[in-house]
Amino acid sequence: MAALSTPNHARVDAAIIGGGPVGLTLALALDQAGVETAVIDAAPPQAALAPHFDGRAFAIAYANYRMWRALGVADALDPDVQPIKKIMVTDGRPLNDRRGAGPSLLHLFFDQGELGDAAGEGALGFMVENRHLRRALEAAVAARPSIRRFAPARVAGLERGAAGASVRLEGGEEIAASLIIGADGRKSFVREQLRIRTIGWPYKVTAVVATVQHEKPHDAVAHEFFLPSGPFAILPLKGNRANIVWAEPHAVAAALLALDEEDFLAELALRFGDFLGALSLEGPRFSYPLSLQFAEKMIAPRAALAGDSAHGIHPIAGQGLNMGLKDVAALAECVADSVALGLDAGDASALERYQRWRRFDNVAMAVATDGFDRLFSNDIPPLRLARDLGMAAVNAIGPARRYFMRTAGGAAGDLPKLLKGEALGA
Ligand SMILES: Cc1cc2nc3c(=O)[nH]c(=O)nc-3n(C[C@H](O)[C@H](O)[C@H](O)COP(=O)(O)OP(=O)(O)OC[C@H]3O[C@@H](n4cnc5c(N)ncnc54)[C@H](O)[C@@H]3O)c2cc1C
Repeated sequence: MAALSTPNHARVDAAIIGGGPVGLTLALALDQAGVETAVIDAAPPQAALAPHFDGRAFAIAYANYRMWRALGVADALDPDVQPIKKIMVTDGRPLNDRRGAGPSLLHLFFDQGELGDAAGEGALGFMVENRHLRRALEAAVAARPSIRRFAPARVAGLERGAAGASVRLEGGEEIAASLIIGADGRKSFVREQLRIRTIGWPYKVTAVVATVQHEKPHDAVAHEFFLPSGPFAILPLKGNRANIVWAEPHAVAAALLALDEEDFLAELALRFGDFLGALSLEGPRFSYPLSLQFAEKMIAPRAALAGDSAHGIHPIAGQGLNMGLKDVAALAECVADSVALGLDAGDASALERYQRWRRFDNVAMAVATDGFDRLFSNDIPPLRLARDLGMAAVNAIGPARRYFMRTAGGAAGDLPKLLKGEALGA
């Protein structure tokens, strides 16, 4: 369908509210399939390009990275991303813990070499800094004039009816669309307007996030230590750099953020150890209170939710954005197939297919990450023994290790075309 536009009125097939990593990737996927798309974001695009924008870096599964390649984004990302070749998971304690310092002898070790060609991108996953991701996605969207971009723009209201839907912006513009997609994150305005309820609970921890420079090379190894207070991850970035995600009870996290740099680094060294040599901080520290939040459904008439608006999970396994990107691949394919059949982009059967495709996987991941957190974030001796033996068992069995690697790589189950690296509409 062609986009008919006047200064105050645009017409598209799909209006995406939220131009984060999920919304922008979805716009590119729909556009590739010839579906006319608008993306509306409340924040100015430049805000995400600041050198230390929000401090997060994402571990991205190799199947999702393949989607960015199929959408023409990966070439711009490649110079700045760090492939993850190995993952070491250890049940540990801080080095100054009176019950015995340091990691347990039982651990889990994943090596990309074991997967061989199965990991098509030559890595278990990729560490992508949010600022680089947003820059590459914004540039790809800007290079496609058929995508209408509204930012900064706040949505004043949504309307949906049998014949179509519309989005009203605070500035008075109106965007008519066949489908409205909420990709506007955990506090989703779209979800609220659709009256879709969420279930979930807050966790008792805040994640402290920082980027550090270290003396010795990380050799592309990602480390996750399960400490009694919560997970502590050292995630390799380009160069001798790492992103730290460090979960602590809220009051401890607040105290860590208030420390001066020298004292913070001393506390960090107790968890980090000295295997990467001397550490220094690069940029500010950030904090994210953690919670589980799950929408009771992903669709409503002429509307769908994707990404964190549908499911916000614990970052213990680095899967939140990966789930959102899988939503993107499935939703884009369902809508593209519907449009190719001559139906409109908001066709109810396409939306039902999308929900069926993604619902089970999303529920399973939310339950698994919640369960991991309960199992690992404590120091109860029988649980510690059970999890250590479980880790040792998986570590000893090659097929079990390879199964976990393929699942974490996003390459298990019924994959949409984009996750196989195939372009839509090709
Ligand atoms: C500490 C931490 C580490 C993480 N690490 C990983 C990891 O390693 N791997 C991984 O896969 N995931 C990770 N995640 C999860 C990941 O951050 C989220 O899943 C991801 O950011 C969700 O993307 P999104 O586009 O759905 O939402 P968001 O990133 O929240 O983007 C939402 C967008 O919507 C816009 N918006 C909001 N409200 C409105 C409105 N009313 N109108 C218009 N626009 C609006 C916002 O400006 C924003 O641009 C981590 C999370 C945390 C907290």
